[in-house]
Amino acid sequence: MADKNSKFSSNVPGKFYVDDQCIACDACVMEAPKFFSMNDEDGHAFVIKQPRTPQEFEECENALAGCPVDAIGKDGDTTQESASLA
Ligand code: SF4
Repeated sequence: MADKNSKFSSNVPGKFYVDDQCIACDACVMEAPKFFSMNDEDGHAFVIKQPRTPQEFEECENALAGCPVDAIGKDGDTTQESASLA
């Protein structure tokens, strides 16, 4: 299960993210290229855009489901300044 405390800082803020378990298999980038991209230098994927429509959410959910190491999470911040600083 992905851990939002281990997500890469290059993910755009929001619900979906990639964490440091990513093995750069490229599956999410193939599944949802509008939302996931590969950082070739650092060797991991990251979220470049958050989904907005139900269809876009489905694409991201499919990418999440297809990740072989569960490196994609969807419990990231929904607001940049969340109140979960406790
Ligand atoms: S599917 Fe998972 S392991 Fe593969 S590149 Fe995407 S986040 Fe990384």
